[in-house]
Amino acid sequence: MGPRADFSCAHCSKKSERPFIIENLPVKCLRCPICNHKRGFVRLFNAVNVIGGNGRTVGKIIDQTLIPSLDKQAAQKQGAENWNKASQEAMERAYHVATPKQREQIANQGSYKPSFMPAAAALSTISPESKQASRDLNYHALTNRTVKPLWHQ
Ligand SMILES: [Zn+2]
Repeated sequence: MGPRADFSCAHCSKKSERPFIIENLPVKCLRCPICNHKRGFVRLFNAVNVIGGNGRTVGKIIDQTLIPSLDKQAAQKQGAENWNKASQEAMERAYHVATPKQREQIANQGSYKPSFMPAAAALSTISPESKQASRDLNYHALTNRTVKPLWHQ
C-alpha cells in the first residue's frame, strides 16, 4: 500500500452543501471516486504522517550522510566497552596474583579504579637529574632535534 491522504471534492461539497472530505485515498488519485470530477478534487495536507515523494528522498539523503558517523560512534562505543572489559580483567588478574598485603591495599581503595595524578604533581615527583637526562637523551631521540648540552653551569 502506497502513501495515502485525505481529499476534498468541490463538486460533492456543493451538492451536499457542506465541506465534503473523502478520507484515506491513494495519493495518486486524480478524480473524485463519487462524482468522477477532476476539477475541484484536491488533496488535503492535514495528516502529520503523510510523507510526499520529495520528503522521502530527503530522508534517504539524510540517512546516507548519517550512516558513516553513526558507524563511527558505534565503533567508539564498542571500543570503550572492550577497554573497560579488558581493564577489569587485567585488574582481576592482578588481584589474583597479588600477595595478601597487596590485596588488602586494593580492598582498602574500595574499587579497582586507578588513581589519577595531575600532570604538575607527576612532574614534581621526577628528580632534577632525571629531568636533565630526559632532556639530553629522550627529547633528542623522540623529536629528532639536537639540544645544546649544558657542559658547565
Ligand atoms: Zn466528488
